[in-house]
Amino acid sequence: MSEIDRLKSDIDELVPDMVALRRDLHEHPELAFEEVRTSGIVAGRLRALGLDVRTGVAKTGVVGTLIGGKAGAGAKTLAIRADMDALPIHEQNEIDYRSTIDGKMHACGHDGHTSILLAVADILSKRREELAGNVKFVFQPAEEVIGGAEPMVKEGALEGVDNIIGLHLFSSYPLGRVGVRSGPTFASADKFVLKIHGKGGHAAMPEAAIDPIVIAAYITTALQTLISRETSPFSPAVITIGKIEAGTAFNIIPEVAELQGTMRAYSNEHREKLLRRITELAQGIAGAMNATCEVKLFDGCPPCVNDPAMTEVVRQAAEATVGADAVDTGEEVMTAGSDDMAYFLQKVPGCYFIVGARNPEKGAKYPHHHPRFNVDEDAMPIAAEVLARAALDYLK
Ligand SMILES: [Zn+2]
Ligand SMILES: [Zn+2]
Repeated sequence: MSEIDRLKSDIDELVPDMVALRRDLHEHPELAFEEVRTSGIVAGRLRALGLDVRTGVAKTGVVGTLIGGKAGAGAKTLAIRADMDALPIHEQNEIDYRSTIDGKMHACGHDGHTSILLAVADILSKRREELAGNVKFVFQPAEEVIGGAEPMVKEGALEGVDNIIGLHLFSSYPLGRVGVRSGPTFASADKFVLKIHGKGGHAAMPEAAIDPIVIAAYITTALQTLISRETSPFSPAVITIGKIEAGTAFNIIPEVAELQGTMRAYSNEHREKLLRRITELAQGIAGAMNATCEVKLFDGCPPCVNDPAMTEVVRQAAEATVGADAVDTGEEVMTAGSDDMAYFLQKVPGCYFIVGARNPEKGAKYPHHHPRFNVDEDAMPIAAEVLARAALDYLK
């Protein structure tokens, strides 16, 4: 049996357990930083494989370390990351492993990610003697609130790590395909709040007031010119105002108007520039109209930017797994969604890729974060194989 066939058959053997565990996690979803049961299962399984396990990293995170049998001094260490948290959504799927907790649901596929990475830990542990380096299995909490990765990095989860890989199952991407792209993949995400302070008064006597609603309208429109006039057509970015709040009655000019929005970009430079320009434009327009604008920027998420060399390692592993025709490397691999894998990728060069899990015949056709979200579980062995193969190639 060739090495390729041997790995496939080893993974095939693990499929029933991988699916059963994913369904168990699906039935017991836990929200950000509450992943106590989940991380308990993860730690228990990693210990059973003989790994060195660190728990309580960033509250509920787990890191398992596998020391390769051929890892000499200066050997490299590869981290593989999975996220574990669920979402505050009430599941509407009629499946026999439906969430048992009202108002909580694995609606992004993180149950699958956790189960896949445990299978990879199993596969690589069995090949420990072949590995000329080490593997750190990083299970992070709280991806959905962009809260788990950054503290894990701060608490040393990537200490001694040279490179990192990880994946997201995608219900919008067909089963059997793998998307691996060098450079930007997931966008940055920033929330901003613009509070315009005008001067209240009678709606019939605007000359005695400063109308923050009219100013809010100007700012809303002008912000779009940051994309259409100040952004290259080759650098995608999004600014959306999702909430406007002002006023109490039709005949009163209010004191204050508040805008809330989000901004997405694909490089740190672009992100910083747009955030600066949102502030300048809002305050400039408000100032020109005799008002003031208070700008609040919240701790957002950086973009996920893949390293060319690590992308190549994953691309080759993906081609060996599903065939070159089923591997995408273009724009279809990009999303305007964000993922806090970005913090790991900022710390060490790596590759975050996507694995198709869409199959309308099995009902796996709803978007992520939808109450009927689901993945085709046949994507799990594909994902496990790409990760395992990439790790084996990297640690040759
Ligand atoms: Zn999500
Ligand atoms: Zn997700």
